[in-house]
Amino acid sequence: MKPLSDRNRSPRRSTPPDDACPTCGKAMIVSKEELPTVINGERVQVPGVEHLHCPSCGEIVLPYEDARALREQGVEVYRRQHGLLTAEDIRTLRQQLGLTQAQLATLLQLGLNTVSRWESGRNVQSGALDLLLKLLRDVPGTLDYLRRAA
Ligand SMILES: [Zn+2]
Repeated sequence: MKPLSDRNRSPRRSTPPDDACPTCGKAMIVSKEELPTVINGERVQVPGVEHLHCPSCGEIVLPYEDARALREQGVEVYRRQHGLLTAEDIRTLRQQLGLTQAQLATLLQLGLNTVSRWESGRNVQSGALDLLLKLLRDVPGTLDYLRRAA
């Protein structure tokens, strides 16, 4: 058989050959049931993140990439529940203002990587900073005001 024919057969990342539960040793199954995660000290339920679930003891195993997806989607769920701007809202607003991530961070007197973390879903903005972002979006003159204050 030619090597090329194997290209469509790469094993799925989330179903490793050894699917034994690390706690009880029973076979685990792939699941997309809701998972809990903690964002800003608050528990949120995140749907649709693939993981291994042990039907015997309830153990859950998340590959690294899926653990990151759980965190990022948890941040989005948290934002919706608290009426905060989403990652996409923030990116769109920033682009409408014609600012780079670093320029917006500087205007808001934050660390240079803060806006990048908001837009990638690694961190969630505080309620106070969310309000500042909405002022930038909704109140004419706010950008000039922040530029004078910087
Ligand atoms: Zn188990």
